[in-house]
Amino acid sequence: MLDAVVVGAGPNGLTAAVELARRGFSVAVFEARSTVGGGARTEELTLPGFRHDPCSAAHPLGVNSPAFRAMPLERYGLEWLHARLPMAHPFPDGSAAVLARSVAETAASFGPRDAGTYRRLVEPFLPKWDVLLRDFMSLPMSALPRDPVTLARFGLAGLPPSTWLMRRFHDDRARTLFAGLVAHVIAPLDGIVTSGVGMVFALAAHARGWPVARGGSQAISDALTAYLRDLGGAVHTDYEVKRLDDLPPARAYVFDTSPTALARIAGLGSAYTGYRYGAGVFKVDYALDGPVPWTAEEARSAGTVQVAASRAEIGAALHAASREGRAPDPPFLITVQPSVADPTRAPAGKHVFWAYGHVPNGWEGDLTDAIERQLERFAPGFRDRVLARATSGPPELAERNANYVGGDIACGAASGLQLLLRPKLSLFPYATKHPAVFICSSATPPGPGVHGMSGHNAAKAVWKRLRAAA
Ligand SMILES: Cc1cc2nc3c(=O)[nH]c(=O)nc-3n(C[C@H](O)[C@H](O)[C@H](O)COP(=O)(O)OP(=O)(O)OC[C@H]3O[C@@H](n4cnc5c(N)ncnc54)[C@H](O)[C@@H]3O)c2cc1C
Repeated sequence: MLDAVVVGAGPNGLTAAVELARRGFSVAVFEARSTVGGGARTEELTLPGFRHDPCSAAHPLGVNSPAFRAMPLERYGLEWLHARLPMAHPFPDGSAAVLARSVAETAASFGPRDAGTYRRLVEPFLPKWDVLLRDFMSLPMSALPRDPVTLARFGLAGLPPSTWLMRRFHDDRARTLFAGLVAHVIAPLDGIVTSGVGMVFALAAHARGWPVARGGSQAISDALTAYLRDLGGAVHTDYEVKRLDDLPPARAYVFDTSPTALARIAGLGSAYTGYRYGAGVFKVDYALDGPVPWTAEEARSAGTVQVAASRAEIGAALHAASREGRAPDPPFLITVQPSVADPTRAPAGKHVFWAYGHVPNGWEGDLTDAIERQLERFAPGFRDRVLARATSGPPELAERNANYVGGDIACGAASGLQLLLRPKLSLFPYATKHPAVFICSSATPPGPGVHGMSGHNAAKAVWKRLRAAA
């Protein structure tokens, strides 16, 4: 009998498996697809030699992750590569606000009236960032906070809606950049804790940047898998789990799946019927003949570029997709240009680039034209650089990964209390009513992103249960 079986080889499933194997437990992972990685993969989606990340590409939470940082992943081939700027937000007048490694450069890009406000917002937390992040990513507490005072101060700033925090700024430059940060988890700008979401992304940039993985995000998943195998763990691909009986006998079953799938597979009945899925995304992966011709100089040297003219445009796009049930036009775009930092992704002089906009859950239309019209506003001539494109709307995203229900890449709406307390209101979100069944996907705290912390926290719950039962 195995100690633990993990279903799903996404970053959280693999992290959970590694954490258990490192502590001497026997572990096997079962993955539905033919390759490991879930939302951290790399494929030649368009033309030979163009290595695209179909899902995650920029990794502010990955490089800062307490779980990843405690593993020797660089020995297994993971190397973080940084563009000069983690993120840029260009404006129609050709200028840009930036999220730079340095607080001073970031603050200066917001203009004189908001520079001091920004510094006062982030600087107090930077010296304590590592401890703060560990405490924040362990909520609801799987251990006592290491620095409760800083966590409480962060809570005061981070718990209110981002619309409140934005009122501290005078100009739209800082507000727009900040609204874009909140939209990375597809949260409504007026939702609780959304100030905290924006601050985490900003602090992550100042602490360690928003890097890409050399060769593609698959390198993260491959490093986790290689480390797991060295620790004695097994990984089986092409193995879709439909019922608990499909799995070998084990003392614990850990699911890197959506709560809905978990309930179906493990026979948990109506355990998660209240769980809500949010807006989906429509994504386009591009093979380009050269770099994106951004008008704003700063955007050319950034890894990630947010594309919207104003905070109002971002708010309207999120509202249309999440609450009005229609595709926004213009959409707010999150774009990543990995080959700015990593030339190995494309043949010499060529580039890979992706952009996505938010659409209603399950939407079946084609957003390509609206995405490219929005890009042309900020990078005239973009369309002329396109050699090939691969599009994926909600149906294709859900088909490739069962966790992206209706194209919701956050595996559950990041709104209301569900942003923080998921998959249900509980102090023990990783446990289920079945004593041997656990959930570790991004449907659990701390939520979406390639950071492995849901897997880490779930593994902790599992090893406590296994040791108690021994
Ligand atoms: C388009 C897109 C862009 C993104 N961009 C970023 C980004 O730039 N940076 C970032 O940090 N995050 C990004 N994300 C989010 C990130 O990819 C996810 O939050 C993260 O991958 C979640 O990890 P996970 O392990 O919980 O689940 P997943 O990565 O979704 O992995 C779940 C795995 O479980 C498998 N599985 C599911 N059901 C079964 C079953 N029944 N049997 C066997 N296997 C099963 C799936 O095939 C999959 O491999 C993006 C996601 C998408 C889709």
